[in-house]
Amino acid sequence: MVKHFTIAIDGPAGSGKSTVAKMVARELGFLYMDTGAMYRTVAYFCRKHQIDWTDEAKVVAALPKLQMNVQLLDGKQHIFLEGEDVTDLVRTPEIGKGASSVGTFLPVRECMVRLQQSLAADVSVVMDGRDIGTKVLPDAPLKIYLDAGVEERARRRMGELAERGETADFAEICQQIRQRDEQDMHRTHSPLVQAEDAVFLDSTSMTAEEVAQRIIALAKERME
Ligand code: C5P
Repeated sequence: MVKHFTIAIDGPAGSGKSTVAKMVARELGFLYMDTGAMYRTVAYFCRKHQIDWTDEAKVVAALPKLQMNVQLLDGKQHIFLEGEDVTDLVRTPEIGKGASSVGTFLPVRECMVRLQQSLAADVSVVMDGRDIGTKVLPDAPLKIYLDAGVEERARRRMGELAERGETADFAEICQQIRQRDEQDMHRTHSPLVQAEDAVFLDSTSMTAEEVAQRIIALAKERME
């Protein structure tokens, strides 16, 4: 068996990456890293300090002041911003939109990629995001590109929001997802694309458990 193994999972918003990545990490005993949460924390930082997250010059100028710390507590990734645990605070659609904006700026991406690569050095991880297979872990022995239809992704987002006691309009969520896809797939730096050597999985009519089992089977084959 190889010493360290990395699994890169990329795909659009709501494709089920984080649910599946957590299941895979738990079953294989790997660490799970959510890179979207790091971009979300940059957006949260902008909002906290009244920095317009669409203004590249202002965001980049503030970047040296970003005090972001990623820790694994009881196997769960926690993100601290200026000492405050913002893990749950960043999970709002509005901050997701801000994350998508700051993620278009190259200096932000370079800073995040460096952090993610240092966190993943010498450990077995399942990392999910948009550029993991293409930029962050280009040598990952297993890369997955996970997709699902827009309406199914919107239904899943509604379910997540409902779990937190929030309500949302289905058409509005579909629209937000389309906008996010547009921004993430067409930005200049590291747009969301399937890595050439990634395995494509369409989760539209698969349960998270089924997707996770497919990935685990692929990982076991490649770890031999
Ligand atoms: O996955 P999540 O919805 O939390 O990501 C929020 C946003 O952060 C994405 O829409 C994307 O624009 C950005 N992101 C990114 N690269 C990553 C992870 C997330 O650009 N590796």
